[in-house]
Amino acid sequence: MQGDFALHEKMLRQLDVETLLVRNKEELNACHGLILPGGESTTLTNLLKKHGLWDELSTFAETRPIFGTCAGLIILAKRVVRNNLQPMGLIDISVERNAYGRQVDSFIDEIKLQLDKQEQCEGVFIRAPKIVTIGKSVTPLAWHKKDIVMAESGNILVATFHPELTDDARVHKYFLRKVVALAKS
Ligand code: GLN
Repeated sequence: MQGDFALHEKMLRQLDVETLLVRNKEELNACHGLILPGGESTTLTNLLKKHGLWDELSTFAETRPIFGTCAGLIILAKRVVRNNLQPMGLIDISVERNAYGRQVDSFIDEIKLQLDKQEQCEGVFIRAPKIVTIGKSVTPLAWHKKDIVMAESGNILVATFHPELTDDARVHKYFLRKVVALAKS
């Protein structure tokens, strides 16, 4: 509907994954997993509501994984601090929008990934939010300095950075493992 969906699609295709751009319930329910891309969280919220997908996403997440990056993460969070945006509450994190400053304060920097083993990876942060608190059900998976920048809880995976803007497919592969595991169960 909005945001950086095209590069996620490109990354998934490179990994030989069949993709579908989702604009309505029927398209959503044809999928085994969903990526909510970065973009603008207020716009994305309004579009999801307008197209009847807001409540549908909570039902989807009961049985299938959702990966939210940046604005997608904001929408999946439980709380947005210092802002009147009401998120979906599908993962117990509090987030602060635009926590690094304005568009010009966007940056690329090394992050520490802890998926199967500890690794480094390049994180692209574009007017990114910060995860300010996490609940007990949430597992951190990556850090930039001391900040948690990727986390998961059940079927929900979130990242404050944009893995689709690099050639590094590790984060997408991690999400796909969740999708395949559930699709097989
Ligand atoms: N700043 C945007 C927001 O608050 C998120 C930016 C992004 O998704 N890259 O919605």
